[in-house]
Amino acid sequence: MVIGAAARVAIGGCRKLVSSHTSLLLVSSQCRQMSMDAQSVSEKLRSCGLLRTQGLIGGKWIDSYDKKTIKVNNPATGETVADVACMGTNETNDAIASSYEAFPSWSKLTAGERSKVLRKWYDLLIAHKEELGQLITLEQGKPLKEAIGEVAYGASFIEYYAEEAKRIYGDIIPPNLSDRRLLVLKQPIGVVGAITPWNFPLAMITRKVGPALASGCTVVVKPSELTPLTALAAAELALQAGVPPGALNVVMGNAPEIGDALLTSPQVRKITFTGSTAVGKKLMAAAAPTVKKVSLELGGNAPSIVFDDADLDVAIKGTLAAKFRNSGQTCVCANRVLVQDGIYDKFAEAFSEAVQKLEVGDGFKEGTTQGPLINDAAVQKVESFVEDAVSKGAKIILGGKRHSLGMTFYEPTVIRDVSSNMLMSKEEIFGPVAPLIRFKTEEDAIRIANDTIAGLAAYIFTNSVQRSWRVFEALEYGLVGVNEGLISTEVAPFGGVKQSGLGREGSKYGMDEYLEIKYVCLGDMNRH
Ligand code: ADP
Repeated sequence: MVIGAAARVAIGGCRKLVSSHTSLLLVSSQCRQMSMDAQSVSEKLRSCGLLRTQGLIGGKWIDSYDKKTIKVNNPATGETVADVACMGTNETNDAIASSYEAFPSWSKLTAGERSKVLRKWYDLLIAHKEELGQLITLEQGKPLKEAIGEVAYGASFIEYYAEEAKRIYGDIIPPNLSDRRLLVLKQPIGVVGAITPWNFPLAMITRKVGPALASGCTVVVKPSELTPLTALAAAELALQAGVPPGALNVVMGNAPEIGDALLTSPQVRKITFTGSTAVGKKLMAAAAPTVKKVSLELGGNAPSIVFDDADLDVAIKGTLAAKFRNSGQTCVCANRVLVQDGIYDKFAEAFSEAVQKLEVGDGFKEGTTQGPLINDAAVQKVESFVEDAVSKGAKIILGGKRHSLGMTFYEPTVIRDVSSNMLMSKEEIFGPVAPLIRFKTEEDAIRIANDTIAGLAAYIFTNSVQRSWRVFEALEYGLVGVNEGLISTEVAPFGGVKQSGLGREGSKYGMDEYLEIKYVCLGDMNRH
């Protein structure tokens, strides 16, 4: 293992693995506030037991059966953080079997009992938020502060569903015949396969596993091969919290093999996926033969619409947050900035000034706001989109090329005079490039915004209450921010329309994805 970045970070301290939560907090407070470089970070994480490299099957940490491993790299330096087990069909089948075996006992616990375990898991995630944040920065690259923010956000789903577990209500329906009574029960669907991406190594997992475990389901998680370490650390904390063997399994490695095993197994009753639209469509098709319930959270093409009557500062702050969070690598990132004629030039200038202040660098470096992109393929995609736009008449105001830091760092970029025939208007950029598109009327803005197969997030900036209602009602999107660029929260439903996906995550609606409705008719009720 080699980690050579000279970045300095404040680490939340090494915690020995102990079963009692109280003693864990004691150890935690004793060794807070140590400062160290990235190499020490990974060593500390290893000695704390949070740098796990094996898969979790049936409550046991195991290597891949053929001992194959894959490398997890730090995108900021290219150096290897760890070699993790590279699993495939056999390990996944065993994980499914252990989840299937664990289902009857986990689902039969009372909601209160499951809730207590989840609450304990939440407490442990929060107690370890610095370490988990460091893991996220190490394997994903986002700035440490943002990574720790992801831990708080990710953990909030576990807390929320610990509470919500107790509110899975059924119904009693007034009967159609006087000698009958009609009931509706909500019951856990069974074994869930959860496939997650690299851009939120923790939150995309907890958003699925929280409601799944709360409702009584058991889960096989397949994190991205690029960022499995955070998932494994979170699973270690789940074991410590009392999640029983088999209720939560983690396998990673050969994605198509793992995917096939999950999809073809009749024991897996639900697939939940966050990732690319292309892979989501494949999974949906492959779920058909066994008629699995499917939730998909796929790509977006978010418009951020700035009207002439917007407050300029609010529009800049909101668009900046919506565009440049995680260096533009989220599915709700503003992909197209639509600006009305009257404010276009003023916005372009002020927005570029704000973007210029963003600090690109290693996520462990104090003050960094923009980390590297996940890999070179991501940078090449951004480069090709910028080249395409420029060749069709767009003009670069700021950035437009790889950053002098090398690796996969890309300069925060603003491009004006972008039009709908350019690639960056049609597809997700997934990088720190803000294309400015000019529009004249509210109708034009709505037409351009909806002219996409995607329908995840949209943002509008206006001071008119009437306009905001008109526009958010007309937008074909699952989430809309009005004068706000950061809108995701565990208490609200997250999900897309059109080809951005199926189902919702977070909130009370997110629980329904893991529940089946059972109707019970009690007959012969007039008999004495
Ligand atoms: P991204 O472009 O964000 O990496 P992907 O859709 O490629 O999106 O990946 C999201 C998740 O889907 C990752 O965990 C990846 O390993 C997994 N994945 C990719 N291809 C397949 C597949 N054929 N079957 C199952 N999972 C897959």
